[in-house]
Amino acid sequence: MPQSHPPTIAIIGGGIAGLTLTIALLKKCPDLHLTLYESAPSFGEIGAGVGFEPVMVRTMSLIDPRIALAFEKCSRGNTVTEPPRWFTVRVGDQRRGGKKIKIGDEVFVMPARRGPRGGVHRAHFLDELVKLVPAGIAQFKKKLASITEAQDGSGDAVLHFGDGTSARHSAVLGCDGIKARTRALVLGDEEAAAKAVFSGKYAYRGLLQMEKAVEIMGDVTPRTPQMFMGYHGHVLTFPIANGSLFNVVAFSSRPTWENPNWVVPTTQEDMLKDYADWTPTVRKIMASLQKPDVWALFNHLPASTYYTTKPLICLVGDAAHATTPHQGAGAGMCIEDVYILSELLSQCRDRSTIEKAFEAYDAVRRPRSQKLVRTSREAGMLWDFEGEGVDDDLEKLEENALRRMDWIWDYEIVEDLERAKGMMEGGSD
Ligand SMILES: Cc1cc2nc3c(=O)[nH]c(=O)nc-3n(C[C@H](O)[C@H](O)[C@H](O)COP(=O)(O)OP(=O)(O)OC[C@H]3O[C@@H](n4cnc5c(N)ncnc54)[C@H](O)[C@@H]3O)c2cc1C
Repeated sequence: MPQSHPPTIAIIGGGIAGLTLTIALLKKCPDLHLTLYESAPSFGEIGAGVGFEPVMVRTMSLIDPRIALAFEKCSRGNTVTEPPRWFTVRVGDQRRGGKKIKIGDEVFVMPARRGPRGGVHRAHFLDELVKLVPAGIAQFKKKLASITEAQDGSGDAVLHFGDGTSARHSAVLGCDGIKARTRALVLGDEEAAAKAVFSGKYAYRGLLQMEKAVEIMGDVTPRTPQMFMGYHGHVLTFPIANGSLFNVVAFSSRPTWENPNWVVPTTQEDMLKDYADWTPTVRKIMASLQKPDVWALFNHLPASTYYTTKPLICLVGDAAHATTPHQGAGAGMCIEDVYILSELLSQCRDRSTIEKAFEAYDAVRRPRSQKLVRTSREAGMLWDFEGEGVDDDLEKLEENALRRMDWIWDYEIVEDLERAKGMMEGGSD
């Protein structure tokens, strides 16, 4: 059976998952032949801010300290509170009356863990990652259409692209995001979990100069992360771009999403209707967002597997487990996937060991990443006064909120790697 020696790997998609995986594999498997195929004409990120917590930054360091340094370069200059805060939580919706709280004031603080953390501008972070990928690795305008198995008995994957070209590799790592073609190929086009489903939430996203935010909110508040909760919506703000920009993500709810496009332009008037009953501060923030877009938030139902063997394809990042952003950990899960998968692949010399690596990766990554999708959805409801048995009861809400991030933030990924390595070597889970 002819096989490529050493194996050749195709990575599909150059977002946070695809780029960090490329950097990881180039470092850990210097002999590996690797090509990254990206459908866009160049690398690029959509949206503005993305936040990472210390657990994820530690994992970046484990993959390659240069990734953590790239993050720190982009987050340096954000105000650091002592002790660190994930968000200062307030009620922003004036319909929530009651004696114990003053609308707009701090209700409780969600503490963060200590260590490098915070928000970065997506484009800046991606630019830093791109610098770590040598020329010649990435091919652009290569939109994956399908994958077939080579007919020569090698088991190789033949990739077919939208431009009519094809390429042959020992294995394919699908990092092609929430609408992943590789996901449909692994699960089957007809499988219910193959396509993402609407989560019931949508968001407006925008950026203000920090000076403008200071005008609206005063000198201190906009420089640290804030959450304004309300009925069927919440508004998050946090500094990015080394403290120079104020990132706004404002959520709202609707039962269905019919438009085939997930990002659609809207008017300021329509956007402000969603926050008609909110505090003047929230309304001023929203009114400052120019040219607003509505982003429909979709997520994946749990996939029954993250890999297939005929030919070898494995899903990574959002392609495997796209989530809503309500616990701020979707990109963090990409980083964790990359750590485990790259370490396991660094032990592989041929097709059969790659298959074992995929099996072990699937076993350790699927439960944790799918738990995030589920709990993130619940968190979105919690912040929107829709939490089951909680609604707008702020004491219950605080109690729930303070517990819900522990399993994400106090995680020892090295233990999962050891478990996965044990499985690969033949031990049971
Ligand atoms: C509003 C919002 C806020 C968020 N905030 C946070 C946060 O604060 N913290 C956090 O950890 N996470 C956050 N997330 C989640 C995070 O953005 C994603 O989990 C992460 O960016 C996914 O990265 P990815 O590389 O898997 O996918 P993507 O970034 O979607 O990259 C996929 C890549 O594949 C390419 N591609 C697609 N199809 C093909 C094809 N057929 N052939 C070739 N290439 C293809 C695309 O062009 C793209 O470059 C947020 C998400 C949203 C929506």
